[in-house]
Amino acid sequence: MKKDDCIFCKIAAGEIPSATLYEDDEFRVFLDLGPASKGHCLIVPKDHYDNLAAMPDELLGKALSVAKKVAVKMQEATGCDGYNLVQNNGLAAGQTVFHFHIHLIPRNDGDGVGVGWKPGELTDEVRDELLKAFA
Ligand code: AMP
Ligand code: ZN
Repeated sequence: MKKDDCIFCKIAAGEIPSATLYEDDEFRVFLDLGPASKGHCLIVPKDHYDNLAAMPDELLGKALSVAKKVAVKMQEATGCDGYNLVQNNGLAAGQTVFHFHIHLIPRNDGDGVGVGWKPGELTDEVRDELLKAFA
């Protein structure tokens, strides 16, 4: 199903033009308009799901298969040294479009593209707290 006011629903349905690299019955992959690197694209299901938790498991599996297919092709097409898959959920995590999507970001040695974090330290206290919460 689609959501009326959702831009990715419209792009995925082809109602708004996009630079589409791949399409099948369930997904469209198109270039991001604000790319982190050359070839940065988005794997987007044609049906609307707000985020990861809302995605049906089967479709989620297919999303990763599509990401793999496009990533392999991307490496052949651009000669990139590697790539990141990034998937944001929630405002706090940087999600700005609330229609599930996976970013595929081609990377090259020394490109300085900022997909990362500063490693902290796993304390015994936090480790135990989390193990308890998940038990
Ligand atoms: P996120 O922050 O994970 O929700 O990612 C949303 C991404 O969608 C950003 O990287 C935007 O640059 C990209 N974006 C937003 N609108 C469009 C659009 N109309 N066409 C292509 N990419 C878009
Ligand atoms: Zn949508």
